[in-house]
Amino acid sequence: MKILVANLGSTSFKYSLFEEDANGLQPITQGGYQRVTDYGECIEDALTRMREHNHIQDASEIDAVGFKTVLGIKKTGCVAADDSVVNDLRSSADLAPAHNPAYANGIEQFAKNLPGAKRVALYETAFYQWAEPAGRRYAVPKSWHEAGIKKNGFHGASHKFIAERSAELMSRQDVVERVRSLYHGELKPIEGNPLRVVSCHLGGSSSVTGILNGCAIDTSMGLSPQSGLPQNNRVGELDSMAVTYAMKKLELSPEEIEHQLTKESGLLGLSGVSNDIRDIIKAAESGNADAQLAIESLIYSIRHYIGAYAFQMGGLDAIVFTAGIGENSTNLRAEVCAGLEEFGIELDPEINQNTKGVEATISSDYSRVKVYVIPANEEIVVARETLRFLQRTN
Ligand code: AMP
Repeated sequence: MKILVANLGSTSFKYSLFEEDANGLQPITQGGYQRVTDYGECIEDALTRMREHNHIQDASEIDAVGFKTVLGIKKTGCVAADDSVVNDLRSSADLAPAHNPAYANGIEQFAKNLPGAKRVALYETAFYQWAEPAGRRYAVPKSWHEAGIKKNGFHGASHKFIAERSAELMSRQDVVERVRSLYHGELKPIEGNPLRVVSCHLGGSSSVTGILNGCAIDTSMGLSPQSGLPQNNRVGELDSMAVTYAMKKLELSPEEIEHQLTKESGLLGLSGVSNDIRDIIKAAESGNADAQLAIESLIYSIRHYIGAYAFQMGGLDAIVFTAGIGENSTNLRAEVCAGLEEFGIELDPEINQNTKGVEATISSDYSRVKVYVIPANEEIVVARETLRFLQRTN
């Protein structure tokens, strides 16, 4: 069984090829293209490369293509990427403009280039389907809710990977089994103590998710990937009145508002320096007060959500840092966990400082709450869910 995972952006195409062996799915090769104008050409080129390197003899060996679709109004979960998915992605494109059109076009293109391969969509929103209605509902008129204005949540593949891997690290096989079965049948019951994890996906795009017994209870992103933590260019948490007030006070059109909140806000807006935390840290070290505030705002926001979700779950067993900033920014991790000994959270400073981009336990031996760094691996989640979908539907 060979599964190709397609990661599509508005001008980018990345792929990863997996093959199943006795130990599960193994990565075989990966590649990518930037400044893409024609997905069809890139797919053909990728298939040629895979043939030339003997990863496949023929394109027909690829059994399925898995897509990490972002958001549908009608759809979620792990489903066949058919015409109804394509139409739903297009009709909700306003909420995920960088991704939905790309996935709609990409799915159609793969149907032409690899007609024999099954196409499977794993939605980024899928991981939140068990969150309590009280946490998913905005306090808006019912007509808004019925129009689809609700908390969706994103980064589902990443947080699901953390749910499974952290349960493995904590020797909770019951939770591991539950996470593996999430989109493919009834929720498995949990016999032992509750396992309460907060997953911090901190990268170009960031979110924090509370995970109880392998299922998300809440997450910092909402209707769109626009809310929650300050992101690279995106605003994060904002009072809705600020939008209409800024429109009047600053005489901005809806398009200008959207542009400024999605492209000129977040860490870039706060620091005025860059959307990349590495540049912002350098600027802060040379005395730039706005850059320092940007870092502190991000840390403040991460702690805010960790605290909220720990409380909602009745306690905390592990905090996980993942994605570019979470895996590499040692000082930021130290600041997030500073002064929390009262809550059983204590880092090992030396291990923390020496951990970059690799899996590690960075809490001290005395810390009741485990603190882990786990490198993000969204592709393997898409590949595994695609395989489970094929097993379930064949
Ligand atoms: P991602 O979205 O997971 O690819 O993460 C991208 C972000 O990770 C960028 O904003 C980078 O600033 C950040 N990042 C990557 N490497 C490092 C590093 N060594 N230290 C701090 N941040 C990093």
